[in-house]
Amino acid sequence: MLRCDLHVHTNFSFDSSATMEEYAARAVELGLQAVCFTDHIDINPRRDTFRDFPFDRRIRCFERVKSLFGDKVLLLQGYEMGEPHLHPKETAFLRSLHPDMIIGSVHDPEVLDGISDRREYERAYDRVVRDMVRDGDFDVLGHADGLRKWHDDYREDLPFLCDTLALCASRGIVPEINTSSMRRAGTPPMPGLDAIARYISAGGKYVCVNSDAHTVRQLYEFPDIAAQLPRGARQCLFVQGRLLESM
Ligand SMILES: [Zn+2]
Ligand SMILES: [Zn+2]
Repeated sequence: MLRCDLHVHTNFSFDSSATMEEYAARAVELGLQAVCFTDHIDINPRRDTFRDFPFDRRIRCFERVKSLFGDKVLLLQGYEMGEPHLHPKETAFLRSLHPDMIIGSVHDPEVLDGISDRREYERAYDRVVRDMVRDGDFDVLGHADGLRKWHDDYREDLPFLCDTLALCASRGIVPEINTSSMRRAGTPPMPGLDAIARYISAGGKYVCVNSDAHTVRQLYEFPDIAAQLPRGARQCLFVQGRLLESM
């Protein structure tokens, strides 16, 4: 079992004030093997964090923290890109910076604007996730059924989700098991382990188990999930874009 957390937001994300240094110290405390900082890049009418993103300053900060903690924990850096298939130019730019990995996530794309019916919105969201997996350039699928994170009454279309996960398997994209939904008691991770089991039977092999931490306390918050993976599921990480099963 890998002890790592590959979806972590720092104060380079609009919605976190935790520093890389604080996370690195906590990772050492927890005995983690690897942590990947994946700050938000989102481009939509409500938010554009790409245009003024301090790419150079972030890399300098990362290198400094690596020089302090790099001998105790493998520190990695990447991005969580919102809807990369809708922003191919900006995604290619991110690739040109040689991140360890890119997470592709559906957050708040313009195409969902104006859909007021909840069920209709959910199915439209699912379709954007599927299109992103089909057309996007990224390594890890972030919170595949992410609406569950924000809406208690979200109703899953499990067969559709499983088709999307099977598409991940055929494109070499690794779905994460995002445990941030579990902060609400009784809510399973995203996606649930039943969907992951079906992904494995559809030919999938790899998963990442990620906290989607926005505070230091949330780092590697639900370690039990990694011990409960369905038979055949293998954890992995990405180093300079290359998938590794162990370190
Ligand atoms: Zn966030
Ligand atoms: Zn996200």
